[in-house]
Amino acid sequence: MSELSCDVLIHGGGPVGLACAAWILQKFPDTKLTLIDRNPVDDADLAAADSRGIALSHGSKLLLDTIHAWPTESADIHRVHVSQAGRFGRALMTREELHQDALGHIIRYRDIHATLRQALRVIQGKSPRFVWQHVNKEEVQVNINAQCVVHAEGGLFKKQDWVESGRDYGQSALVGLIEVENAAPYQAWERFTSEGPLAVLPSHYGPNILNLVWCGSPESSQYRLQLNDVDFLKSLQSEFGSRIGRFLKIQDRRLYELGLNYRKEITKDNEVWIGNAAQALHPVAGQGLNLGLRDAFLLAEKLVGVFSGAAENQTTENIQNALESYAQSRKVDRTTTIGLTDFMARVFTSNLTPVVVARGLALSALQWFPPIKTALARQMMFGRR
Ligand SMILES: Cc1cc2nc3c(=O)[nH]c(=O)nc-3n(C[C@H](O)[C@H](O)[C@H](O)COP(=O)(O)OP(=O)(O)OC[C@H]3O[C@@H](n4cnc5c(N)ncnc54)[C@H](O)[C@@H]3O)c2cc1C
Repeated sequence: MSELSCDVLIHGGGPVGLACAAWILQKFPDTKLTLIDRNPVDDADLAAADSRGIALSHGSKLLLDTIHAWPTESADIHRVHVSQAGRFGRALMTREELHQDALGHIIRYRDIHATLRQALRVIQGKSPRFVWQHVNKEEVQVNINAQCVVHAEGGLFKKQDWVESGRDYGQSALVGLIEVENAAPYQAWERFTSEGPLAVLPSHYGPNILNLVWCGSPESSQYRLQLNDVDFLKSLQSEFGSRIGRFLKIQDRRLYELGLNYRKEITKDNEVWIGNAAQALHPVAGQGLNLGLRDAFLLAEKLVGVFSGAAENQTTENIQNALESYAQSRKVDRTTTIGLTDFMARVFTSNLTPVVVARGLALSALQWFPPIKTALARQMMFGRR
């Protein structure tokens, strides 16, 4: 048990908590900020950690570039091919249509995490009142004497110690790295199967090593997790088809339960919740961390507005007003992203014939009406401000 006194206290040293600390300190290095981090001090101890591939949007890249936190090992996406297994309807999105260098980027979770830690260490060197406190799980209870408390404890669906609003989709995601025979470089594939989305995404290891995210019922996902490699690859091939040749190898299989859990209110008095501590989403649209980084960036702006000012203006009332203004400014982006992701997760897992037909029509509409496709892609890439 330790005692703290600070202006801003951040609980959680995951990507969102780290990014928030970095943006606050970069904008105002003299902030009296404390970060409580459950992760080990040494980056080497994270090496075996979460290796799942995360799709980050171009908007997130621009944000992370501002604190020099873009990992060196990343893979660009230039095209996304969306289709339904065994049904009509498909769409292709390309970077050229959107006039962007890339539609998105795939990075391992642990690389984003480690790069943000490194970026924060550099900023720490110029931030005299910053305390980065590493604690054990058992030690996490700290005596808080902070003017503002930021919750960035994150967590995965069903692993969070709070449940508010949301939905259990009755799905799990099996992730892993696959080797294939003949993949087009820079291309991502999202295929909607009878059990849920199956995504095959580029990786920095080269064009034929790809990230797999295969969503299915908890039972079939568990079964697939335990299959031997040969049977697993056979089963994957029959779901995905032969567009990228034969599936040759699978490694690092992991399972995640999927659902939606979100807070209706993201501020209370002097407390605020960001990232997965505010909302845990289904990965179908690859939006969770992208949304969390936008949370962190905008919160940093609001807090710096208060704490870089005159001491007499750092009143409880002004802090609460800043948090309220933050909550207001996040409303549209948050509601749209949560709503769109929930919609996609439900529509793309239904087997009801009218839904299947509507889904095919929607994919065809995306293909034939470029303005709809562009609007959707822009929301995914930059969120709504
Ligand atoms: C299978 C899968 C695929 C995904 N793919 C994508 C994708 O393609 N694109 C995308 O944008 N998002 C994706 N996501 C979502 C993304 O992983 C999360 O949105 C993101 O990790 C949230 O970051 P965070 O920092 O809020 O939380 P976390 O990543 O959970 O980090 C929270 C940190 O806080 C620490 N902590 C917990 N409690 C405490 C405490 N009491 N005190 C101090 N520290 C604490 C934890 O140890 C952890 O390090 C995916 C999720 C899953 C499950």
